[in-house]
Amino acid sequence: MKIRIIGGGPAGLYFASLMKREDPRHDVVVYERGPRDATWGFGVVFSDRALEFLRADDEAMYAALTPHMETWPNLTIVHNDTRIPITGNGFASIGRLEMLNLMYAHAEKLGVRIEFASEVASLADPRLAGADLVVGANGAFSWVRAENEAGFGTRIDWRPNRFIWYGTSRVFDSLSLTFRETEHGVFCAHHYRYSPTMSTFLVEVTDATWRRAGFEGMRPEDTIRHCERVFAKDLGGEPILSNNSYWRQFPAVWNERWHVGNVVLVGDALRTAHFSIGSGTRLAMEDAIALWKAFREQGSVPEALARYQELRLPPMQKIWDAANVSLRWYEEMDESIKSGPVEFAYSYMTRTGRVNHAEVRRRDPGLAEAYEKLHPEVLAA
Ligand SMILES: Cc1cc2nc3c(=O)[nH]c(=O)nc-3n(C[C@H](O)[C@H](O)[C@H](O)COP(=O)(O)OP(=O)(O)OC[C@H]3O[C@@H](n4cnc5c(N)ncnc54)[C@H](O)[C@@H]3O)c2cc1C
Repeated sequence: MKIRIIGGGPAGLYFASLMKREDPRHDVVVYERGPRDATWGFGVVFSDRALEFLRADDEAMYAALTPHMETWPNLTIVHNDTRIPITGNGFASIGRLEMLNLMYAHAEKLGVRIEFASEVASLADPRLAGADLVVGANGAFSWVRAENEAGFGTRIDWRPNRFIWYGTSRVFDSLSLTFRETEHGVFCAHHYRYSPTMSTFLVEVTDATWRRAGFEGMRPEDTIRHCERVFAKDLGGEPILSNNSYWRQFPAVWNERWHVGNVVLVGDALRTAHFSIGSGTRLAMEDAIALWKAFREQGSVPEALARYQELRLPPMQKIWDAANVSLRWYEEMDESIKSGPVEFAYSYMTRTGRVNHAEVRRRDPGLAEAYEKLHPEVLAA
């Protein structure tokens, strides 16, 4: 098969590797508009069992990535100056560039050709001519999808909160969510170590806070200074670092139909999942696994593409729904922070509706007990 993939992020790279591993005769090319040695953002986090989802289908990829990951058994909620460690929530993280480099090496070893600094801007591009399969793996702002929203049945819900993806040289000892009340509103930082010397430091505020703080039109260096002042106690004197960092709003993307003809969507191009559930990269890789499996099961391209959606929709929809409930929790943080630290941490834990009181008790008996003292009615429920 002649397979052309637009976008060399986790979804496109991983699908390329799986297809080439399946049959080395496949002619697989990935076009990546960025250079080999740069990417956006800092580290990414994987929740729960990290890369266990890879293990069954791809021991080699699992073995390539896991030694480079930082892991912790717990997370910490910081409610102004009160720290609430919560046990029973495992996380693992890795620098985005490091992960992509490992994925490039893995794909190239299998015989995938990756063309860097190579933008594809139209399906009429001659490089796609004669392809049996064209994969739109070009991220949340995919033109492959945007060019045919009616065909894919695209829905995009732009969420109001503002976020900016920074890093810092402060090395944190656990994955943390720090909430600080300021005169402009609540500032939240999602922060975690992703290498022995670096941490991700993602700042999120409501739109109203963003406006009150005067971020609109503020120079990038002043924005950093402002955030450093808000989180001075957390940063311990270390600087906030930018990597083309700018304020964004989150688009919750969904598509009713995942392919049009021989053009199929994977990863963020297909659907985004809010970063607060730490699953975007994993979902992107799971899409690639499902698409590969569909081709394994079905001979023809139309059959395989139909099977892909059938296989992948049920598990994916569950996480997507949870991500959308999670993002709304952050939109209401200015209200919910007014409850005390215990209630706030409990509300964080139960925000997606997938964790009930019994599950909080199982993961962190201390938190469950502290909450029961304040709300004995949960014991009756
Ligand atoms: C602020 C933020 C924090 C996040 N944190 C996490 C996290 O902690 N954990 C997690 O799992 N996920 C996180 N994510 C989500 C995660 O980054 C994405 O879900 C994941 O990268 C999706 O992979 P992808 O391959 O679909 O798309 P991308 O990673 O976006 O890759 C798409 C690629 O396509 C390329 N491209 C685009 N247009 C073209 C073109 N025209 N021609 C050629 N190439 C093109 C781009 O350069 C890019 O390399 C975060 C996202 C954001 C925005």
